[in-house]
Amino acid sequence: MTTLNQLKFRNSFSQLPEAFYTRQSANPLTNPRLVCISQPAADLIELDTSCTSLNQLCEITSGNDTCPSFATLAMVYSGHQFGSYNPQLGDGRGLLLGEVQTAQQENWDLYLKGSGTTPYSRFGDGRAVLRSCIREFLCSEAMQHLGIPTTRALCVTTSDTPVYRETEERGSTLLRLARTHIRFGHFEYFYYTRQHDLLKALADYTIGQYFPQLVNDSDKYLLLFQEVISKTALMVAHWQAAGFAHGVMNTDNMSILGETFDYGPFGFQDDFDWNYICNHSDYSGRYAFSQQPDISYWNCGRLAQALLPLIDETEPLQTIIDQYPQLYSSHYTRLMTRKLGLTLVEDEDPELIKSLLQLLQNEHCDYTLFFRALCYFAPDTPLPDYLQTLQQEPLLRWLSTYAERLKRNLTDNPARSQAMRQVNPKFILRNYLAQQTIEQAEQGNYKPIEELLSVLESPYDEHPESEHFAAAPPDWGKKLEISCSS
Ligand code: AMP
Ligand code: MG
Repeated sequence: MTTLNQLKFRNSFSQLPEAFYTRQSANPLTNPRLVCISQPAADLIELDTSCTSLNQLCEITSGNDTCPSFATLAMVYSGHQFGSYNPQLGDGRGLLLGEVQTAQQENWDLYLKGSGTTPYSRFGDGRAVLRSCIREFLCSEAMQHLGIPTTRALCVTTSDTPVYRETEERGSTLLRLARTHIRFGHFEYFYYTRQHDLLKALADYTIGQYFPQLVNDSDKYLLLFQEVISKTALMVAHWQAAGFAHGVMNTDNMSILGETFDYGPFGFQDDFDWNYICNHSDYSGRYAFSQQPDISYWNCGRLAQALLPLIDETEPLQTIIDQYPQLYSSHYTRLMTRKLGLTLVEDEDPELIKSLLQLLQNEHCDYTLFFRALCYFAPDTPLPDYLQTLQQEPLLRWLSTYAERLKRNLTDNPARSQAMRQVNPKFILRNYLAQQTIEQAEQGNYKPIEELLSVLESPYDEHPESEHFAAAPPDWGKKLEISCSS
């Protein structure tokens, strides 16, 4: 275990041409204190979490100190936001502090969100507030433990520096760990500014860093694209299966490694609604839950376009991208059949899934409670409690089809039940739980974050002492609107 000072840094991104970034340091926050830390995330970089080390972490995450081995910078990128191209984006309120290399030769970007203005801040103040940092902190760690590809969160720090949103809030930071901070929007930036030599440098860097097996392949750029779309399809299939809505799937929020990235007004499904829009500012529903697979496909199209100068002809890129819908569907069907405890996928299973989602929609079933209860379903035995609370006729109709299907399954009911409990979580980060935790934290009580985090770190376990975190939301907590202002 080492302190931040003793970690080994590689800082490869800072060795790229200066056109990729602006060197910049963080603006200090006043009277900082550490709000929460994720021990599993600290373990990833073998970071010591003893008291002195945490004091140093607090100084660094509040911009009051730095490490000599950091190569701190703000990255430039652009991207499609709500369907329109925005040529002027970049790290407007975050900095890549450096890239840690662990003893196991794993690389982790250390990225500080909320660190003050940069040349890419436009009209923003470069800051982040406590509620948005806590939401990203809890959700990235929750997603990780649900088995969904994601960036990680090491810690949240708050301060007395005032930040003005709808009301006065506290300037806070989130220290993110991620394998990369390269977004689709990085490629778009060099494509639309017609800097094709830098576009090539970016693609070569990306391949060298993350896909070294492709370095000597004559089709390396096509294969890079293939890798990106495969990872993106898998990530979005995971979102759909878990009932997760990202909320702002702009191309600048799409990681090149298919990790859930840039947590804003995200939300998990409570009562299942196919058209769930978690982002209060998404008036047209562009990023509604049901739209996510199509939007990710569209976003991959934007990346394909940006890669064109490296490939010269559209046809091979088109051939790859045409596979996307099929790729996505097969991942999704596999994940959903796993949730249903089915050992093999059969041709009619997509129909079984579709009819189930229709049932959940019609009956306003809680998505997570339903699947968790289904783990305990066995034909010819009393229904699990949650299923008994639902309208019986449509439910029993669907269950009888399911029971027929189970006859061809390769496991018996106890084994199926056990397998299902390992993929159908008891605990998710419900919006209202995040909200309650945030309200406490804003009063200076950080304990509830720790309590919630501890169940989210093993969401498939029973945690009988924390039953309250598994309950359906109260009415006030069902339709919380999360704004983009963060
Ligand atoms: P996001 O919606 O968080 O993905 O941000 C979109 C773009 O706006 C990114 O380039 C951010 O860096 C920038 N941005 C968001 N909030 C702020 C802020 N408070 N100050 C400066 N830039 C910001
Ligand atoms: Mg963003």
